[in-house]
Amino acid sequence: MEALAAVVYSDMAVDFLKQPVQFIKGVGPNRAKILSDSGIRTVGDLLAMVPRRYLDRSSVSRIQDLRSGSEPVTVMATVIATGTVPGRRGRKRFEIVIEDEPGRRMKAVWFQGVAWISKVIETGHRLALHGKPSRYGGMMSFSHPDFDRVDEQGPSIDTGRIIALYPGSSALQKAGLTSRTFRKIIYDLIKDHGEELWENLPESVRAPEGLMDGRVARRAIHFPRSQDELRGARYRLKYEELFFFQMLLALSRVRKERIPGMVIASSGPLETRFRDEVLPFTLTGAQDNALADISADFASGKQMNRLLQGDVGSGKTVVAAIAALKVIDAGHQAAVMAPTEILCEQHYRSLGRLLAPLGVRVGLLTGSTPAAERRELLAAVADGSCQLLVGTHAVIQDGVDFHRLALAVIDEQHRFGVLQRAILFEKGDRPHMLLMTATPIPRSLALTLYGDLHVSVMRERPPGRQPITTRMVREKERERVYDLMRDEIRQGRQCYVVYPLVEESEKLDLRDAVSGHEALSAEFPDVQVELVHGRMKAAEKEEAMGRFVSGESAILVSTTVIEVGVDVPAATFMLIEHAERFGLSQLHQLRGRIGRGQHASTCILMAEYRQSEESRRRLQAMEETDDGFTISEIDMELRGAGDFFGTQQSGLPAFRIADLMQDQAILDRARDAAFALIKQDPALSASENQAMKLWFETFVRSRGMRLSRIG
Ligand code: ADP
Ligand code: MG
Repeated sequence: MEALAAVVYSDMAVDFLKQPVQFIKGVGPNRAKILSDSGIRTVGDLLAMVPRRYLDRSSVSRIQDLRSGSEPVTVMATVIATGTVPGRRGRKRFEIVIEDEPGRRMKAVWFQGVAWISKVIETGHRLALHGKPSRYGGMMSFSHPDFDRVDEQGPSIDTGRIIALYPGSSALQKAGLTSRTFRKIIYDLIKDHGEELWENLPESVRAPEGLMDGRVARRAIHFPRSQDELRGARYRLKYEELFFFQMLLALSRVRKERIPGMVIASSGPLETRFRDEVLPFTLTGAQDNALADISADFASGKQMNRLLQGDVGSGKTVVAAIAALKVIDAGHQAAVMAPTEILCEQHYRSLGRLLAPLGVRVGLLTGSTPAAERRELLAAVADGSCQLLVGTHAVIQDGVDFHRLALAVIDEQHRFGVLQRAILFEKGDRPHMLLMTATPIPRSLALTLYGDLHVSVMRERPPGRQPITTRMVREKERERVYDLMRDEIRQGRQCYVVYPLVEESEKLDLRDAVSGHEALSAEFPDVQVELVHGRMKAAEKEEAMGRFVSGESAILVSTTVIEVGVDVPAATFMLIEHAERFGLSQLHQLRGRIGRGQHASTCILMAEYRQSEESRRRLQAMEETDDGFTISEIDMELRGAGDFFGTQQSGLPAFRIADLMQDQAILDRARDAAFALIKQDPALSASENQAMKLWFETFVRSRGMRLSRIG
């Protein structure tokens, strides 16, 4: 009876959360339209808005105490004069003079958005302003401060000790949706409908964490009564967000773990011969561990879903080869997929070299495989005589008919995107899946992006690796750099010269690379200098790359198209032009092209004199470490979790309150709790979990996620 009541109650609240914002007090059709443009469509979205900052009156500064150039401060003052001032080239600025209680004055100035700001701010308004103070012509001044109206005569929500400031865009501001309006709308909403919200986490999750009650937290995040309460509310809501997301991953994993997989015996004759007779080195501990993980998956009777994360050069290819041998030993087939033809050919060559001595037949299938060859190959794949097929994913996905496919290896899996990963998993054969990536990512991102997979990490590199010396240099040292290159080339080594390619200025960058190629051809008249860039035809590109890979050319000038996995052991030198323009992880990936042979390597980062603090730290990190995992952590610290992958579609969910960088400890706890709960109640059928289940379903839908999409 009690359980039933809970369900009815919850349904009501879910309906409430799903209501369009338009019908809320204070929001009409106009505002609803503008809110919806910023992603706020329902009551639930509105309540989930997170204040961007809080104004604590106990931390308000007095104008008389401001110091020019200090950190940003908050000032509360009354507007005593306003004016639009004509400036140079017809550009107007809007200035106000404000005065605080002790009677001191300062200015605030806006150069942008003058038209609407001058309409919003009037003499007599009481404002809270937040900005960096600096002194201009004898008067303290803010330039483009954040501001918010906080009239004393307004409702108490504007004059409490801690007041919330909401994210603002000029569209929102123009529609009158200022922080003050948001406070009013949300205040009325909670006042009139607070009862319809309910606690959405079961006691079993809340108690061990000492989490604040959900209703209290949802009110307190907007109207905190104290800093303590605010801290509690933030923790609670971050935890909840991360918990629900991890629950999604836990459910996805449970679902995958139900999929049966072919049982592959632990080792057979091919694998034994390979290890004893063919393999020219002993495996590293990390490689052994990864293979032990894979063997356990193969023996489990379940489909393997494993991600092999290893820095460039950690030796993932051999792991994939042995995994393939295990299934071939058992009479099955394996497929290796890579995103580009260059990578496929390289895999084809190296896997062929490793497996040919054992009589294993390896095939290569790409977009440029000639029709006749293709037909023959497809027949061999269909009758099982081709045991290992290497190819681009597009080609393999396109209805290749395998005789008995038991293992699909996907190299550089991050380039496939989450969606494609999902499609591959749905493939009829249900092969074991081994995903490989050479892009180390911080642990918290891995738990979020790949949290439903099993992960093997290879941090160790094969022994005998020669060190790479990395140094940042200035333009005036260019001659020295060319001398170093000459030395390398004289010893039979090869050099990469890399130019950045920023999409917006593609033409310009291309010109850089083209003229760089000309300059280098003149500088090094005795050797062949190749040029590879994104505008070239695929075939031309492959030919130029081919000449470099075979050693015919000593220097390869390129935009960033050189592929992640290209392996040229004789390349010992890399010059990265405009290094300050590259992201840190990208620099690391590029550097991974050298240091792959017997000889010590050098990486030169050519950088401008003028650099941002951030780019200086990036280049410094490159000089200090070549551990990909350390680099990825620094990169995330510099860029923030959201930007970690740049503009690429990352599949990373947008968190509203949690921050993957700052909240790693909460993430760990929420993940453990979510996985434990799903293990106990995988169908979420326990009565104590019903309220949560309803809320969770709304969460999943409102974030545009689907269960099957994750994974
Ligand atoms: P990645 O992980 O970047 O794909 P590769 O598989 O291309 O790395 O391996 C990089 C190089 O290291 C290859 O030349 C490979 O032969 C070599 N290698 C791999 N494993 C070992 C090992 N255990 N000992 C010595 N060299 C190894
Ligand atoms: Mg590789």
